[in-house]
Amino acid sequence: MRNVFPHAKLDEPMRRYTAWKIGGPADALIEPKDSNELVEAIHKARENDIPVTILGGGTNVLIRDGGIRGLTIRLAKSMKNIAFDGNLMTADAGALYPVLANTSAARGLTGMEFATGIPGTVGGAVFMNAGAYGTETKEVLVRAEVFKDGEIVEMSGDHLELSYRHSVLHEHPEWTVLRASYELSPGDPEESKRTIKEFRSQRMTGSPSKPSCGSTFKRPPGDYPGRVIEAAGMKGKRLGNIEVSPVHANYLVNLGGGSSEDALELMRVVKHAVREKLGVELEPEVRVVGEA
Ligand SMILES: Cc1cc2nc3c(=O)[nH]c(=O)nc-3n(C[C@H](O)[C@H](O)[C@H](O)COP(=O)(O)OP(=O)(O)OC[C@H]3O[C@@H](n4cnc5c(N)ncnc54)[C@H](O)[C@@H]3O)c2cc1C
Repeated sequence: MRNVFPHAKLDEPMRRYTAWKIGGPADALIEPKDSNELVEAIHKARENDIPVTILGGGTNVLIRDGGIRGLTIRLAKSMKNIAFDGNLMTADAGALYPVLANTSAARGLTGMEFATGIPGTVGGAVFMNAGAYGTETKEVLVRAEVFKDGEIVEMSGDHLELSYRHSVLHEHPEWTVLRASYELSPGDPEESKRTIKEFRSQRMTGSPSKPSCGSTFKRPPGDYPGRVIEAAGMKGKRLGNIEVSPVHANYLVNLGGGSSEDALELMRVVKHAVREKLGVELEPEVRVVGEA
């Protein structure tokens, strides 16, 4: 690995790079400075039969305690450029969503305020069709530049098949978002800033401050995961150092030193209780990565 990627960090503990503060070692971790370096690294990995895992900000992943084999490429550190052309905003895959919200608002563009509630990157948000406060990425996304099958292609929201916390990228984890463009509308910067402030204060009061992956489960049809988990008596349930948050039952928080196995087991226990007591099937929103 060292001779293929001389600048990679080897055996790097991934708990340092995830919002949940959970995750075993990556064999090799790189943080490319731009899309050329990113594409080059993927080519090199392919030539050497090294598996590749792409991470944005690590805010929607549960990395297992055994860590990640092969090459892990993390984009949240760099690749953060944001450019404007009229109402069109184009941002690199590593740019953070809250930064997109603030930057577009300051520019007098409206439509991106919802992004303030999503702590991940552009790449992760396209992958997840991330959304908050009633707006999803798909409503503003015009296209994404994606590196797939050895070439860079432009994909529209339709091609990306964006739906509730899903995109076609889930079936093609080797496809990599390089940047994305969003169509916004002219607006009043002060009003957008007020909206962002209001969204942020809603979050401060309604969600736990301990490390988590945000929503652990997706919304079941016609209901809310927090409500059904609470109704199944699981609020406050603890396994090892992972706890169903007493503040918001869809957040499984790490009380310190929590393991991925405890998180997965608690997810199984919660899912089982909700099925048994309410007949509701919960689907995880968080993406499980790596080996046990
Ligand atoms: C406190 C908290 C609150 C949250 N609130 C919300 C919310 O309101 N709404 C919401 O939708 N989500 C929310 N989330 C979840 C998370 O922030 C989003 O899913 C976000 O879009 C993930 O982005 P990321 O960069 O962190 O992705 P990561 O967690 O790094 O990766 C998630 C998935 O995307 C893939 N991926 C990442 N970058 C790329 C890329 N460039 N190309 C291809 N694939 C890529 C990864 O392989 C992985 O499968 C919250 C999380 C936390 C911790």
